[in-house]
Amino acid sequence: MPDLPILIVGGGLGGLTAALALARRGRAVRVFEGAPAFGAIGYGIQFGPNVFHVFDRLGLMERVMAVGDEPSAVTMRDGLSDEELVRIPTDAGFKARFKYPYLIIHRIDLHNVMIDACRADDHIELIADARITGYANRGTFAEIATEGGETHEGALVIGADGIGSTLRARMLDDGGPLPNGYVAHRTIIPMEELKADVPTDVVVLWGGPGFHIVTYPLRHGALFNIVAVFRSANEAPRGDVEAYRAELQQTYSGAHRCLRDLIQVMDLERRFVVGDRHPIRKWHDGRVCLLGDAAHPTLQTLAQGACMAIEDGLHLAALIDRGGGHEEVFTAFAADRVVRTARVTLESRAIWENYHGDGVEREVAFQQFRERSVEDSYRCLAWLYDGFAFAD
Ligand SMILES: Cc1cc2nc3c(=O)[nH]c(=O)nc-3n(C[C@H](O)[C@H](O)[C@H](O)COP(=O)(O)OP(=O)(O)OC[C@H]3O[C@@H](n4cnc5c(N)ncnc54)[C@H](O)[C@@H]3O)c2cc1C
Repeated sequence: MPDLPILIVGGGLGGLTAALALARRGRAVRVFEGAPAFGAIGYGIQFGPNVFHVFDRLGLMERVMAVGDEPSAVTMRDGLSDEELVRIPTDAGFKARFKYPYLIIHRIDLHNVMIDACRADDHIELIADARITGYANRGTFAEIATEGGETHEGALVIGADGIGSTLRARMLDDGGPLPNGYVAHRTIIPMEELKADVPTDVVVLWGGPGFHIVTYPLRHGALFNIVAVFRSANEAPRGDVEAYRAELQQTYSGAHRCLRDLIQVMDLERRFVVGDRHPIRKWHDGRVCLLGDAAHPTLQTLAQGACMAIEDGLHLAALIDRGGGHEEVFTAFAADRVVRTARVTLESRAIWENYHGDGVEREVAFQQFRERSVEDSYRCLAWLYDGFAFAD
């Protein structure tokens, strides 16, 4: 059935990248999004220079740069003393070294750029409010089923349905994501409402015993993004806001004053459980293949989960376009991507421990951070920021 479209389950950054990259190669694509509309949860996201190899190839570079901002540095500070431990300048020298910038961007703005590009391409059909419940391989094609009972046939199916992937559950039956004992609250405030005495032109991560906070500006300095992450036994996504507030105050009671000021403005309506999954090597079953968080979710330590999903989307499209049977294409895809994505997952776990340690472990980790020169940081990040060897 050569005329069937390629079906993509999930309209997140991985799914939309795959859709655009396939459409640019003349492939008909249908994207199914379970939410009532295509969109993103409204928080910030950081992009390392590696992801711009993809935006450049998709012709989206200018539009992405127009809605994002380049911080002057990515920094790490001690959450107890506020001492700066690491500074990675993301200036002209960084761009000369890694070819592309470091960007901070509102997820909604980025999603709009990608959705607009999808809508402008006749090869792409976007179908919202279509939660997919399962798939079946039918020999020469594959089939997916919606919650409403419809079925759709495709030449191939790409499962880009995120960390809680339904397609993965059907494919591998390997349980849910693995919580790491931490939860996150995310908040965006207008810059003029920021009272805490913190840097506003850089990305900052404050590390402390059992907690961290990340901040950076958005929308050309109009907004300020705050993510508070801490160890908690309470993983309920929504709960008693006052109880959450008391928990935050207790958790950050020994933190530096600027962090205690930051947590005053946190939106406590929604709590996110932090977790990942162990790396695996096989991401497909017949004509159905996973990508992004569905295949290899990671802790956010390196700020690379979305970057990996976006890289996956382009590479998978290039391999499909190069031709060959689906078995060969999907096997090559996982083989090409598994070490890079697993390294993101495993390094993220290792560094996570260094941010959150207590006692002498903390002192050792922070001494090592202090000793790191700019060149050391660039060298440690080169495997990631230099980009991926795409199939095209
Ligand atoms: C606090 C935090 C901070 C982060 N910061 C960064 C960062 O700075 N940089 C970075 O690169 N990454 C970051 N990440 C990671 C990043 O958010 C994810 O890795 C990325 O969103 C994964 O993209 P994806 O397309 O694979 O999945 P998702 O973005 O999760 O998209 C999946 C889509 O599929 C849809 N869907 C789910 N199930 C179904 C179904 N059954 N049928 C149809 N549709 C379905 C969902 O509604 C969603 O739209 C962060 C994560 C967290 C938690």
